[in-house]
Amino acid sequence: MSDYDYDLFVIGGGSGGVRAARIAATHGARVGIAEEYRYGGTCVIRGCVPKKLFVYASKFSEEFEDAQGFGWTVGERGFSWQKLIAAKDKEITRLEGLYRKNLERTSVEAFDSRAVIEDAHTVRLLSTGQTISAKYILVAVGASPNLDNTLPGIEHVITSNEAFHLDELPGKVIVAGGGYIAVEFAGIFNGLGVDTTLIYRGEEILRGFDMDLRTTVRQEMEKKGIKVVLQDTFTGIEKQSDGSLVGKTKGGKSLAADQIMFAIGRNPHTKDLGLEKAGVEMDAGGAIKVSEDSRTNVPSIYAVGDVTNRANLTPVAIREGHAFADTVFGDKSWTVDHSLIATAVFSQPEMGTVGLTQEQALERTSNLDIYKSSFRPMKHTLSGRDEKMLMKMIVDADTQKVLGVHVVGPDAGELAQILGVTLQMGATKDDYDRTIAVHPTAAEELVTMREPTERLRG
Ligand code: NDP
Repeated sequence: MSDYDYDLFVIGGGSGGVRAARIAATHGARVGIAEEYRYGGTCVIRGCVPKKLFVYASKFSEEFEDAQGFGWTVGERGFSWQKLIAAKDKEITRLEGLYRKNLERTSVEAFDSRAVIEDAHTVRLLSTGQTISAKYILVAVGASPNLDNTLPGIEHVITSNEAFHLDELPGKVIVAGGGYIAVEFAGIFNGLGVDTTLIYRGEEILRGFDMDLRTTVRQEMEKKGIKVVLQDTFTGIEKQSDGSLVGKTKGGKSLAADQIMFAIGRNPHTKDLGLEKAGVEMDAGGAIKVSEDSRTNVPSIYAVGDVTNRANLTPVAIREGHAFADTVFGDKSWTVDHSLIATAVFSQPEMGTVGLTQEQALERTSNLDIYKSSFRPMKHTLSGRDEKMLMKMIVDADTQKVLGVHVVGPDAGELAQILGVTLQMGATKDDYDRTIAVHPTAAEELVTMREPTERLRG
């Protein structure tokens, strides 16, 4: 029996923390975990899961329109925001219950409290003042929305946290930012019939993704009715006497809305966590610095997930938590490969991507074959919807290795998962060419792109 209350104490009951706690417990460790809000963390409670449910809800407006091209007469339509919120809340409560049950099942002791670090082996629960000792502490507290607090009127804006609980669906919304959250929420609001504007400071939305995809997604969003303002930012936000908002921009615009939502990135949730007290090193942005195996500079303290600002994605946090638990408690040492991560943006249209963008590939080699195909998905031949699907494959011309595959269009996220497997296996263009198509699908395009659309040499 060790001298500590627990072998492992986890701070944060989100995806990464819960996975680490459960795996450590199955390896025989005595584990405690504390969560200050709701078990499930950002992804389950106010992120990926409710967001995807909102995306489904917002797509029905187009489905009703498209149905007519297939002979359907769609009657009067109505939408209740309150009903959607209630249904979403019910599902989130169910999922939170499952998280708790799974912790119980593995004998992890769960506390409903904020926990802070006292020293390298001690945490304190703020709800009771109880101090707990642990051989190892895992910090998995995630991140929270970033707001520009120097902006006049910033107190009037909402973030994605509040967007999940608005009493009323606004008539007019402006979303600030050009990343995952901004683009996804712009699509959600627009699909639900809200007059939607997206304002982004850069030249093109979704920085970091392949330029062809960024442009395609933006153009398709505009076709759906979203107004996209590029190279501009807010300089101040004023509340009007009727409660509506007016945002002034650097470019001299005055943009009116019922709600303004900021989605300008997220910050590691490390403030007042006691990390300084224990001597844990953080970077300038407050992210905990960790080694490849998620160890901080303090040997008994580890950190996983968004709080480490490596790749801020739920499945990555889960992997990091799992690897930590196997390595420290399971005598099975492994690390997470962050170099090849398939991902999806649930924009409308959706985007799925894995591997290098054309811009990144060009930094590695100057000999590339680019395969690109842009076409109207079959469904829209009858629906009449003017929407394009884009598939792009980036191939190393010398080795024929596929370096990146990028898709915009229906179910692109589903495709990205399996494309990720092919790239993990080191697939070549020839492997794709030898694969017989599944017909009629959009995905068959990926194995029938014979001639490069561009050959980049030297
Ligand atoms: P992102 O980092 O994706 O995007 C932030 C956006 O805000 C960028 O467009 C950025 O511009 C802009 N921005 C940053 N600072 C400012 C500023 N001061 N003024 C104006 N604009 C600014 O963050 P998100 O908030 O969209 O998402 C947070 C994280 O959540 C992401 O890292 C993502 O990994 C994760 N996520 C994943 C999802 C998924 O897997 N589908 C869904 C939602 C979130 P610039 O590009 O110029 O820096």
